Amino acid sequence: MYKKLFIPGPTHVRDEILEAMATPMIGHRSKEYVALQAEVITKVQRLLYTEKRIFLSTSSSTGLMEGAVRNCVAKKCLNTVCGAFSKRWHQITLANGKPADKIEVPMGQAITAEMVDEALSSGEYDAITVVHNETSTGVLNPLYEIAEVVKKYPDVCLLVDAVSSMAGAKIEVDKLSIDVCLAGVQKCFALPPGLAVASVSQKALDRAAQVENRGYYFDFLVLQKYLDERGQTPATPAISQIFALNKQMDDILAGGLENRWQRHKEMAAFVQGWARQHFGLYSDEQYLSPTVTNIHNTRSISVADLNAELGKRGAMISNGYGSLKETCFRIAHMGDLTLADLEWLTGQIEDILGL
Ligand SMILES: *Cc1c(COP(=O)(O)O)cnc(C)c1O
Repeated sequence: MYKKLFIPGPTHVRDEILEAMATPMIGHRSKEYVALQAEVITKVQRLLYTEKRIFLSTSSSTGLMEGAVRNCVAKKCLNTVCGAFSKRWHQITLANGKPADKIEVPMGQAITAEMVDEALSSGEYDAITVVHNETSTGVLNPLYEIAEVVKKYPDVCLLVDAVSSMAGAKIEVDKLSIDVCLAGVQKCFALPPGLAVASVSQKALDRAAQVENRGYYFDFLVLQKYLDERGQTPATPAISQIFALNKQMDDILAGGLENRWQRHKEMAAFVQGWARQHFGLYSDEQYLSPTVTNIHNTRSISVADLNAELGKRGAMISNGYGSLKETCFRIAHMGDLTLADLEWLTGQIEDILGL
């Protein structure tokens, strides 16, 4: 049976988007493709309040996380860790042979601007990684405050994983001077997985020019060359996803960006309120995510059993991540889901658990 996905990626995909995926194929060196890519990029720039270049990467988000550290770390990277995905970025940095240190807070806590300031003031680092929305814990790090602090260190590239917040929360890339802001399309963009996007600053590209062994597939200078000179990508892109992204961006912009941020906030407030009433919230109340809620399983229910019952009714939620597998469960409220969807879902959960 078809299940509506309330998991933090891939998210529920509307039929109109699936239909856009079925658009007849075009060649990636054709004029039609060049026009399509240019259109999509202009729309993504509006979403991110930026005039910076946008790279389209045929990979999941992890590919661009690797690309960001590989191209933008010449000296040493500071990885800020507050959960599974931010920890992974530290592993990726080390796996690419880059010197790196991490500052880490326990799961459920946020990285603060003060922590970042203190670490960067050592002068050791020329890049910092920040996960905006830590999907494993439902924490939204204070990116606006962190970005202000990073501005004090002009040699430091600010690399932001916005995988589960881009298109679900406002991120003003130019105002914040973010050097790389990346996401995959299977979270808040609500498309099938397979494509990732990133805004990339001139500073990031200048840094890349000083870095050796950038590889090829994610070499920012190769991506820049094809973008600037041809309006294309170096390798064959996921054209079906780009058709779908073009359609989705039309719908997102027509609906109004502020309305989209507001809808996510309303869904989050609703799920948080429901969680407080029936369970508890695991993560720091000051930094709750607008796109995914990490619910503390204070009743020690079997999440697997709950999900099996939900499956019969056409829905799926997520267990806690990693070490929080049993202690928590997560409800995502991102992409094209609506408040009505969440009201329906929580009603089903109440019914199943007899709350
Ligand atoms: C899902 C996710 C990732 C990994 O994305 P992939 O598209 O699977 O590579 C990285 N960071 C965050 C915050 C995520 O939510």
